[in-house]
Amino acid sequence: MPNLCAHFIGGEAVPAVATGATPVFNPSRGEVIAQAPAGGPAEVQKAVEAARKALPAWAETPAVERARILFRYKGLLEGQFENLARLVTREHGKTLDEARGDVRRGIEVVELACGIPSLIMGQALGNVARGIDGQLSLEPVGVCAGITPFNFPAMVPMWMYPLAIACGNAFVLKPSPKVPLTAVRLAEIALEAGLPAGVLNVVHGGREAVDALLVHPDVAAISFVGSTAVAKHIYETGTAHGKRVQAAGGAKNFMIVMPDADLEAATTAIMGAAFGCAGQRCMAGSVAAPVGRAAEPLLKRLSKAATDLKVGPTDEDESAGMGPLIDPLARERVLRCLESGSREGAQLVQDGRAVPLTQQTDGFFVGPSIFDRVRQEMQLAREEIFGPVLSVMRAESLGDAIAWANQSRYGNGAVIFTQDGGAARQFARDIRCGMVGVNVGVPAPMALFPFSGWNQSFFGDLHVQGTEGIRFYTRSKVVLSRWQYDGRRALGW
Ligand code: NAD
Repeated sequence: MPNLCAHFIGGEAVPAVATGATPVFNPSRGEVIAQAPAGGPAEVQKAVEAARKALPAWAETPAVERARILFRYKGLLEGQFENLARLVTREHGKTLDEARGDVRRGIEVVELACGIPSLIMGQALGNVARGIDGQLSLEPVGVCAGITPFNFPAMVPMWMYPLAIACGNAFVLKPSPKVPLTAVRLAEIALEAGLPAGVLNVVHGGREAVDALLVHPDVAAISFVGSTAVAKHIYETGTAHGKRVQAAGGAKNFMIVMPDADLEAATTAIMGAAFGCAGQRCMAGSVAAPVGRAAEPLLKRLSKAATDLKVGPTDEDESAGMGPLIDPLARERVLRCLESGSREGAQLVQDGRAVPLTQQTDGFFVGPSIFDRVRQEMQLAREEIFGPVLSVMRAESLGDAIAWANQSRYGNGAVIFTQDGGAARQFARDIRCGMVGVNVGVPAPMALFPFSGWNQSFFGDLHVQGTEGIRFYTRSKVVLSRWQYDGRRALGW
């Protein structure tokens, strides 16, 4: 029986009590490589207590000293870069290159956090009234919790805790039980970098652990990334319990291709957006909307590129351009979606079920699939699939394509491929979502910018990353001081 992962609490591995567990697969082989224990209120209590204990000294540590630890952390992460990427590939199944991207995007948030002394500087106004000075400082909020999805085992946890701890908070991370190994390794490396024990803790589990965090009176803030239904539940329950909450949800991202677009470049970008990480990305481009005469040549190119895409195990074979889905359930869901898409009347022009693998294994593979003539009312156009399925919706005009995208209940990303600045500008102005690409397939913002989902892709006010992340993990304090000096004053200029 593969190892039951330990929780990481107060700087130590805390063995799990065996009361149920989620299998952690190597999705490339279909083998169980570990078990994520089902932590609950008892484990959450321990982790929150450890965080509370570490909090006063950490919050009091000068920002420059916190930054020094983060600089050391960044150095250690670079040293472990390749090992971390391999760990991500092993428990997630994405290609090694994609895993490197996952770790790199996370490290970029640590780099941002290294600038915390400047980022957290407040404001001051001398003589705000006669004899009174005003000073605003950004203070830690306390114990913060992060609940993360399976699809970016390194990046998404690192959207959260580096900024939270840089701001002087203590943190409890509850990673996805499907990918618990990377999260623990990231926390161990933070301890090696000199982060005091208890400032960063990891508790494993699913709904029970999450619900314990949501109602815990000592948790001040919750960051969540995952599906929309859970994001809504987290936001509503967390705020009802007096916490600040940022909760990012699912997505349906449109990619519009104008007739004047560079179709070679657009095809490469669409392939990456639709099938990168086997479509398991909240920024996955899942609908391509070619306008007018762009449709036929685009489809021809996409079909060829999909046929050429090598699918196979990613753990030993670096030649595979696309890996498996995360688990058997995800695979079944995608297979069902292929069946229902055909039933709804869309044309399956590229069938991922028929794809030969680079190496035969028991992994959870479905190759890239493309549906043509998808219509607005079909589920394919409306629901998040979270798998390697691209829907093509042929549009007569840019206005039609934008209108379709704007009817989505989500609002993460949307993209246009064009050489016409006017069309690009109109698209950027009219599209209703938070992350917009012009000739960029996956407009995921870098660490400096907030990850800006709209509508049902985000619940809350301040997004993760960037200066919004800093604002989320701090609260402002305004000090007004009145001091009188009764001696002679030199008021000349
Ligand atoms: P998920 O919602 O199933 O799980 C996310 C986290 O919530 C996990 O830690 C899980 O243990 C916990 N959880 C699951 N069900 C719960 C419940 N009923 N109550 C409380 N907690 C629960 O998501 P997933 O399948 O791990 O990840 C895929 C989803 O995440 C997709 O919808 C994707 O679009 C979304 N995602 C969004 C972003 C973004 O920035 N908007 C980024 C990455 C992933």
